[in-house]
Amino acid sequence: MGLITDKVQKILLELLEKEGIKFDYLPDIEKDDLIRIIGNYDFIIVRSRTKINKEILDKAVNLKVIIRYGVGLDNIDVNYAKEKGIRVFNTPRAFTEAVAELTLAMMLGLLRGVGEAHCGMKMGKWEKKRFFGPELMNKTVAILGFGRIGRRVADLLTPFNVKIIAYDIANIPEEYVEKGVIAAESIEEAIVNADIITLHMPLTKDTHNLINMDLIKKMKRKPFIINTARGAIVNIDDVKKAIKEGIIRGIALDVYPEEPPKDEELRNLSNVLMTPHIGAQTYEAYERAAYEVINILKENLMG
Ligand code: NAD
Repeated sequence: MGLITDKVQKILLELLEKEGIKFDYLPDIEKDDLIRIIGNYDFIIVRSRTKINKEILDKAVNLKVIIRYGVGLDNIDVNYAKEKGIRVFNTPRAFTEAVAELTLAMMLGLLRGVGEAHCGMKMGKWEKKRFFGPELMNKTVAILGFGRIGRRVADLLTPFNVKIIAYDIANIPEEYVEKGVIAAESIEEAIVNADIITLHMPLTKDTHNLINMDLIKKMKRKPFIINTARGAIVNIDDVKKAIKEGIIRGIALDVYPEEPPKDEELRNLSNVLMTPHIGAQTYEAYERAAYEVINILKENLMG
């Protein structure tokens, strides 16, 4: 018997029913009630609202599987769950295309000022002369973090004939090197001559605050930066300063150190394109994730 404690897409509920998997759907349940009933279930599906901490895990006497229907496991005490023999999963592969496509949209939008031009039109302005920007074609793009999303961004950039320099702590796959992707030895090498820098690494102690003034000063071509990865990889104060001083030309952000961001100065700055952490949000991605959930349950609970 399973429990779903966050609001999920209808497709997941339909698939569970179709497979005959029994579950209770309590998307608004509060912590105290969860502690009271968690002992009755052998799997739980959460998104980001429900925090699965030690207190809950101590009561989860029958729990075998925890699934985050989405990306990231920051709301789950994974180590403690593992100590208790509970397997923890998420569904990151499902979202690769969605995030890569948003990255491309933000890249093109930032280069041409689409966001600000749109805001102007909405306010009844006709700022035709204001919006001149570079083409993406033939530019140099640094992709920092060349995992699932970074590689898909590289694929999507193919028709623009850009020069791609990839940096990752893991090896850049040979098939991409053969296609012309340059594997940088260091982050500095990747960013120094980039016109556009796009971030696709996880937030770790090494990547926290990675895009700071020291690194920005090494960027020679006044680049545009795109962050659809994790907010705290970018030092927002340094980026604001760099935009004001013309060291970088602009930034597109889907993610923020604090969400929602309260930074009014950032909001009001030109050449800052912002979306409210929507990278994963396509119909298809959540449908793929729902199928992944079913597979996880079949493999781990049904023999
Ligand atoms: P992934 O694990 O497939 O790839 C991440 C890559 O980053 C790996 O190749 C890894 O080796 C590399 N990496 C780790 N530390 C690094 C470092 N210090 N320097 C350089 N490279 C490093 O992950 P993914 O699915 O491609 O996701 C990438 C990012 O996108 C993550 O931060 C994830 O949280 C984020 N994401 C955002 C959204 C959104 O809604 N905007 C949705 C999904 C994922």
